[in-house]
Amino acid sequence: MPDEPRVVIVGAGPAGLVLAWLLHHADVPFQLVERQQQEQIGTQPKAGIVEYRTVELLRREGIADVALHFEAENRRVEFRTPQLAHVFDYADLTGDRPHYVFPQHRLVAELAAALVVRGAPLRFGHRVREVGTDGTRPHLVVEGPDGARQHLTPDVVVGADGASSAVARAIAGHVDVLDRSLPARWLVVSTASPALVGHTVYGIHPRGYAAHLRRGPQETRFYVEVPADVGADDLTHDEIRTELAERLRLDPPAVAGLDIRSVDVLDLRTRMTVPMQHGGCHLVGDAAHLITPAGGKGMNLAIADAVELAHGLVEAFGPTADRKRLDAYSDTRVPALWRTQAFSDWFLRILTARSSDAVDDGSAAFVHGLREGWVAALRDDAGLARWFAHAYAGAEPTDP
Ligand SMILES: Cc1cc2nc3c(=O)[nH]c(=O)nc-3n(C[C@H](O)[C@H](O)[C@H](O)COP(=O)(O)OP(=O)(O)OC[C@H]3O[C@@H](n4cnc5c(N)ncnc54)[C@H](O)[C@@H]3O)c2cc1C
Repeated sequence: MPDEPRVVIVGAGPAGLVLAWLLHHADVPFQLVERQQQEQIGTQPKAGIVEYRTVELLRREGIADVALHFEAENRRVEFRTPQLAHVFDYADLTGDRPHYVFPQHRLVAELAAALVVRGAPLRFGHRVREVGTDGTRPHLVVEGPDGARQHLTPDVVVGADGASSAVARAIAGHVDVLDRSLPARWLVVSTASPALVGHTVYGIHPRGYAAHLRRGPQETRFYVEVPADVGADDLTHDEIRTELAERLRLDPPAVAGLDIRSVDVLDLRTRMTVPMQHGGCHLVGDAAHLITPAGGKGMNLAIADAVELAHGLVEAFGPTADRKRLDAYSDTRVPALWRTQAFSDWFLRILTARSSDAVDDGSAAFVHGLREGWVAALRDDAGLARWFAHAYAGAEPTDP
């Protein structure tokens, strides 16, 4: 590896790559290390929906329209329960702020390729084996594809290394790590089939949640809620199709034609790390916080973290040599993170049948009644609908 950088970014997910782009364009000496090879990154099915404000942020930072081109919009969601179906036009209620349909694997692949073309120092196939800090300066050991190990002592290590972050583990004894699991998981069903409906559909059913999400012209994602002890292989593809047709009230022959390519498991875990920095180690994205998948917020938060930290690093290591913004990074981000966690937690309890309140048959039926009640309120109460539209789309409360 070439000379010692001032900043080492661990991980080439959305957070690490956005940060790398901004440091590269500001001439801050950095290196990014990623354990996977370039062609492997982003191959797991993950995010597919990007908020309007994230695209605006990426546009202001010179990434959208340059390295990434956002076009396909999602403007509506439909709630389907056994009792009612309600199409909710959140883009209309937020002054024309839709989501953009943009799979995470494309975002990561295209941003990495754009950085490589620009000569940015991305080291694929390099895994961080050890990280630590003496309280002011971090140190780490990076293993290359040939097994050779290098010891580095940069000014800052950025943990952009996802939910099982080695950097987060290194500072866990010095910060609060607030963890919580929910008693359900979602099967993530990826299909090579066109969408069956032209917008997102959420099925709110006593048997559990299901979702229909557009991902591309020949790509549609489905979610199926199952108890936490059910694995990806425990349901046959036909059983999955039956659950989808029932919970989403989809036409069974159309569901029968779905070309299911993979079934993965998504555990419903939440976490906050406060503060998100200690001794020269800074955490961004899933390394710092996990949010329920309800409402599609995780990648958006990861990108917002990366942009804020990039500004702090540029001010600290650029001509101004001012560390104030870097030192305040966690304090700046944490209030917005809690607000988004609060929305996602509330929304998850409408979507899922197995919230922590649903302990037996009687209370499960009660919980389903609550879910129906919230959907009816979203349909009938203009104030609630406005709040939901803004929180869901990622618009500021002060936006129209
Ligand atoms: C099924 C699913 C659906 C989702 N849907 C949405 C959605 O619609 N909208 C949304 O906003 N969010 C969504 N999310 C959440 C989103 O995918 C994550 O929040 C996002 O990936 C976080 O990005 P990140 O850069 O923090 O971490 P990651 O994407 O996890 O990237 C971490 C990177 O670090 C690398 N790494 C890890 N350890 C090391 C090491 N020791 N050395 C070197 N490299 C290492 C990994 O290989 C990886 O490339 C979804 C997640 C899942 C699982």
